[in-house]
Amino acid sequence: MKHIIIGTAGHIDHGKTTLIKALTGRNTDRWEEEQRRGITIDLGFTWFDLPGGDRAGIIDVPGHERFINNMVAGVVGMDMVLLVVAADEGIMPQTREHMDILSLLGIEKSIIVLNKCDLVDEEWTELVEEEIREELAGSFLEKAPIVRVSAATGAGLKELVDIIEKIAEEEVVEKDTATIPRLPIDRAFSLSGFGTIITGTLLSGTITKEDVLEMYPIGKTSKIRSIQVHGQDVDKCYAGQRVAINLSNIKKREIGRGCVLAPPGSMKNTDLLDVKMNILDSSMRVLTNHTRLHLFTGTSEILCRAVLLDKEEIGPGESGYVQLRLEEEIALRRGDKFVVRFYSPMETIGGGVVLEPNPSIHRRFQEPVIEDLKRKESGSTADVIEMHVKNYKDTMITLSDLARLTALSPEEVEQDIEELKEQGLIRTYALKKDTYVWHAGAAKEAEETLLNALKKYEASYPYRYGMKKAEIHTNYFRKIKPNVFDLYIGSLTEEGILERVDEFLCTPGYQVRKDTLYDRVSAALMGAMEKAGFDFVRYSEIPVGSVDPDVEDDIRNILLEEGKIVKVTDEMYTLSSYMEEAKEKIQEKLKEDPVITIAQVRDMFQTSRKSAKPILEYMDSIKVTKKTGGESEFCGEPHFAKRAVHFHAVRGHSRGNVHEI
Ligand code: GDP
Ligand code: MG
Repeated sequence: MKHIIIGTAGHIDHGKTTLIKALTGRNTDRWEEEQRRGITIDLGFTWFDLPGGDRAGIIDVPGHERFINNMVAGVVGMDMVLLVVAADEGIMPQTREHMDILSLLGIEKSIIVLNKCDLVDEEWTELVEEEIREELAGSFLEKAPIVRVSAATGAGLKELVDIIEKIAEEEVVEKDTATIPRLPIDRAFSLSGFGTIITGTLLSGTITKEDVLEMYPIGKTSKIRSIQVHGQDVDKCYAGQRVAINLSNIKKREIGRGCVLAPPGSMKNTDLLDVKMNILDSSMRVLTNHTRLHLFTGTSEILCRAVLLDKEEIGPGESGYVQLRLEEEIALRRGDKFVVRFYSPMETIGGGVVLEPNPSIHRRFQEPVIEDLKRKESGSTADVIEMHVKNYKDTMITLSDLARLTALSPEEVEQDIEELKEQGLIRTYALKKDTYVWHAGAAKEAEETLLNALKKYEASYPYRYGMKKAEIHTNYFRKIKPNVFDLYIGSLTEEGILERVDEFLCTPGYQVRKDTLYDRVSAALMGAMEKAGFDFVRYSEIPVGSVDPDVEDDIRNILLEEGKIVKVTDEMYTLSSYMEEAKEKIQEKLKEDPVITIAQVRDMFQTSRKSAKPILEYMDSIKVTKKTGGESEFCGEPHFAKRAVHFHAVRGHSRGNVHEI
């Protein structure tokens, strides 16, 4: 079943509302003022059963010049338009303005309904029809069928319905239900006992009762109480339907026309738009830079200024790239159409299509900006995504942010990302919750920076394994999240672009320098440690001969890294073999008695208390023992002395025994 919306257009009093009543049996003039004045002020809605069984939504728009904003709000989402022209008057100013608006908003499927034929004779009707054909020649309505009817007598209505059905079946393209739902609000009201109800035409996607949606641009999320389509409760509604939704958590006064309902976080509010602007052939004005305009898009009307990016001015029949600076925020999507009217006097001068709904502010006549806009005008969504990714070279951008910027669904973005990845244009780093995307160009640049930094570092510090990963992160990639940076480094080591030794990164094949200086210093350090045995020697007191202290530290660090020595305290180091020996002996002792004290360790290794304490602390650090009290703490067990430090054996996860001095 096709979901389509049929709308009216045409000069005031040409019989739009009467025609709808004749077609549907229902009146769309709802408001008291409308009834009293006999004119349509706001949008009117009803539905219409086509002979084939499909139910089409109908939107009746006002023809009066003063309510053109309502007319434009109604046009959004229309699949087919009945352009009503009264035979006794022919084409009038609002007929023309409505035609312009339909053309700017890209509504192509139209039927010219020549109404009030009962008021004129055949000859006159012929003349009017000829006049209409002439007027439409060369326009988007050139091939539109003209149907003669009388809404008053019902003459010609059957023929009209047949043509509507034929176009609905053969020509109307169904709206995209596979993307995110977007529902521009055209009415909001409250009903006692129900709360807030909004109506609109669902432009894309589907909405089900379980969905949570966000009201843009106000940013409130809302649950759905109920959905109605054509006056009936439904669980799900589809793109192309007129819908009424009862929302919780939101007040009527918070919502205005121009608000859009869509999934939370699926769009980004903006007060800047990059657009392609077309000025109407018939415009009496030339668009100059900084002109103040009324922007109509979706159901919103906003004031803005036009910054002409590639031209000094845009005359009738011409087009150009323009940045619109809005006086309020809205949420749109690339490809959305708009109309602009001159600020004062109000007249429609042009319109066009949104190329970038979330641009940065541009200066005029910037070649790269114009090139980007050209690409956004003709390119695919993947092209646009690549351009966004390029803009985030220092931070990378997440898949969900890309979806927000483009108002595409995460699935659509994922597809484009896959395509771009296959083309080698981007790289991705997947975390649990989101995927980070980096432009291949930026990644390549980063790689060069990184390799150069490493080469420089390796030349300056030959006795180091390389640069610390954390140091590289803070020096060169501070804006990239640490866990994403880790993935990046992981991919570089995997590809063999880098090598990693623990926390050090170096260029492939790099080796620390092991020359005579290294041999001399390392022998001096290890020799002194060996000689000291369990009476650990202070590092600063080891004589190493003349050597730069930094180099001495670097060589000590290599010995540590290679596991030849271990750190006992901040000042003392010893051979790993000694600590191995100590570990074995202590473990042996713990088998006999699960309590060990510093005094026992002192005696065991015939050393001082000063050295025994760090031995046990070291054993703690490698989880051989566990200290269970502080020096000033008292322990509950009777044989524990006051001021005891206790160590107990660690066995698996079980609570070990306690040891004292
Ligand atoms: P709208 O402003 O285009 O919605 O026009 P309305 O539907 O309100 O009609 C304006 C006036 O024209 C009303 O008084 C209608 O009764 C009258 N009218 C509409 N259609 C016909 C028609 O086919 N024949 C005649 N004689 N009058 C019509
Ligand atoms: Mg009307």
